[in-house]
Amino acid sequence: MSDLIAQNLAAIRHRIAQACEKAGRAEADVSLVAVSKFHPIESVEAALKAGQRLFGENRVQEAASKFPQLRDHFPDLRLHIIGGLQTNKALEACQIADVIESLDRPSLSDAIEKAAQKAGRLPELLIQVNTGDEPQKSGIPRDEADAFIEASLEKFGPKIRGLMCIPPEDEDPAPHFHFLRRTAERHGLPVLSMGMSADFETAIAENATLVRVGTAIFGSRPVPQS
Ligand SMILES: *Cc1c(COP(=O)(O)O)cnc(C)c1O
Repeated sequence: MSDLIAQNLAAIRHRIAQACEKAGRAEADVSLVAVSKFHPIESVEAALKAGQRLFGENRVQEAASKFPQLRDHFPDLRLHIIGGLQTNKALEACQIADVIESLDRPSLSDAIEKAAQKAGRLPELLIQVNTGDEPQKSGIPRDEADAFIEASLEKFGPKIRGLMCIPPEDEDPAPHFHFLRRTAERHGLPVLSMGMSADFETAIAENATLVRVGTAIFGSRPVPQS
């Protein structure tokens, strides 16, 4: 199991390097977020042993049950919250996350602002854009993205680092990545979190700086124990 995760990580890093070369980009400009949601802490430890330090989790509760204890041994570990965030989880998210990738509505901005005061710590923030305007998906709708980004920059300043998206499953992701890239460029935002196991190379061609890969590292996900 542990060997397999190390092998998978090496293979993904290699593919990232190749995609960067093809795109004429520096490899150091793309970071791999290992998405460990639903996988046990042993899988995270295997990835840590293989040198991986940056992780993504969807649920605050699950992240809190795995990561704070690991930080004692791996102080350079970094945790991103990448799933849709309920306002009542904002405090815990501010306490444990280095980056919240899923800021997507004014009510959550308000909750994070309050939570950060209480926690004495504000993670870096990415704004999630619902590039496919899918009703079931988190993210600010396309048409509202510019206004929400401006308001968020006013509220949080440089803590707003960039944008994140999850394209519709049944569509070519490239136009969605392109839209996100153009939107980030308009606002001078440096970070683009886009691309998952199936499409991270396409995302790198569109200037992704964070790719979020789960299945291709950890295997298929066990059923969540909610
Ligand atoms: C689960 C998840 C991923 C990883 O998806 P894979 O297809 O397993 O690589 C990436 N981003 C988000 C927001 C996720 O929820």
